[in-house]
Amino acid sequence: MKSFFLIRYGEISLKGANQNLFLDKLKANIKTQLKGKKTVITGRIGRFYLSCESEYHEDVVAVLKQVPGIVAFSPAIRVEKDKDKILEAAMKYAERYDVKSQGKLFKAEVRRIDKSFEPRSYDMACALGGVFLDKYPDLKVDVRCPDWTINLEIREEAYLYAYNIPGIGGLPVGCAGRGMLLLSGGIDSPVAGYLMARRGLHVDAIYFHTHPFTSEKSLDKVKALAKILSRYVPRLKLHVVPFTELQVKIKQEAPPDETTLLSRAVMMWIADRIAKAEKGLCLITGESLSQVASQTPESLRFTGSTTDLPILRPLIGLDKQQIIAIANQIQTYETSIQPHPDCCTLFAPAHPVIRPKMEPLQESLDKLQINELVIQTIKKTDKQMAAEL
Ligand code: ATP
Ligand code: MG
Repeated sequence: MKSFFLIRYGEISLKGANQNLFLDKLKANIKTQLKGKKTVITGRIGRFYLSCESEYHEDVVAVLKQVPGIVAFSPAIRVEKDKDKILEAAMKYAERYDVKSQGKLFKAEVRRIDKSFEPRSYDMACALGGVFLDKYPDLKVDVRCPDWTINLEIREEAYLYAYNIPGIGGLPVGCAGRGMLLLSGGIDSPVAGYLMARRGLHVDAIYFHTHPFTSEKSLDKVKALAKILSRYVPRLKLHVVPFTELQVKIKQEAPPDETTLLSRAVMMWIADRIAKAEKGLCLITGESLSQVASQTPESLRFTGSTTDLPILRPLIGLDKQQIIAIANQIQTYETSIQPHPDCCTLFAPAHPVIRPKMEPLQESLDKLQINELVIQTIKKTDKQMAAEL
């Protein structure tokens, strides 16, 4: 037996001439996330249809809930445009998806896009409602405030569905180009990556690892976060930068109150080079205004001065509770709060500068003379597909 889904894509339908590009991306992203499971995706105007063997039903539901660009979807039945066949299919649907578990009050709604179909919408809705009432005598029709609705759409074929499962909305990953997410093990950066993926960016991630000051467990945690993000971003890559030598040099040679800002600026510098090598158009961070000393406007000016790429900071105006709510929703929170510190915590000065001036920091950065070390560090960076971690 086959499973069949009707997929609605929302914001893409507002796109003009480019709409096909967006739709091709969305279709390709669904296919990638369902790799190895045979599915057929058809349809264009206003929705997609996906059919697959019913053994993949739950996998398809899990994927469609997480693919950016999908506003909602419904398990459905596709049937020939014939009244009796439709009524028979409606009963099959009712049994398979246990519609009455949604409540006693229901209504039938019919849309005839194909106006040549007989009977007309009202009569067909009555017939449809009638077969449900015959089969399940405790159901009642309530057209104003039903617990559930059996929908029938008459198009090139007839489609029946009673459930609407929400997707995450947004735009298909990849239609806005590529971005590089600075992914630490914290709560914020995975949320930032998710939000930008939902606006159509293909996100890759970069992590600055300061082994042995940060343990293998810290790296495992970042890998786990990258893997969770890859549910939303097909083919997300994780770059792991061996950052210890640079971090130690900064710690030993720079003024103590400047070390966090200097190491963040060096991270941006390296992220810039790796992003550009990967055709990235922007950097993404989990920074939120005033959250810590390195996230004041003055600090952000300096830490962003080592790249000419736009730095997207989708959390800039959110407070921690809002960020945590999204982290819970995207299932990164439990991993993020595992107690494995990252380098920022371990190397953080007791009294960081909060309102830094550009010139002294720039001087400190120049004095370190780390151009060659940065190039060598980039060469030693490791790259992996997050889904395979
Ligand atoms: P998060 O929860 O994302 O760790 P945070 O509140 O701990 O954020 P900071 O430690 O100041 O904030 O880091 C700010 C941003 O800098 C992070 O959101 C992330 O984008 C980037 N960042 C910090 N440390 C690293 C790291 N080791 N590797 C990659 N990116 C990092
Ligand atoms: Mg952090």
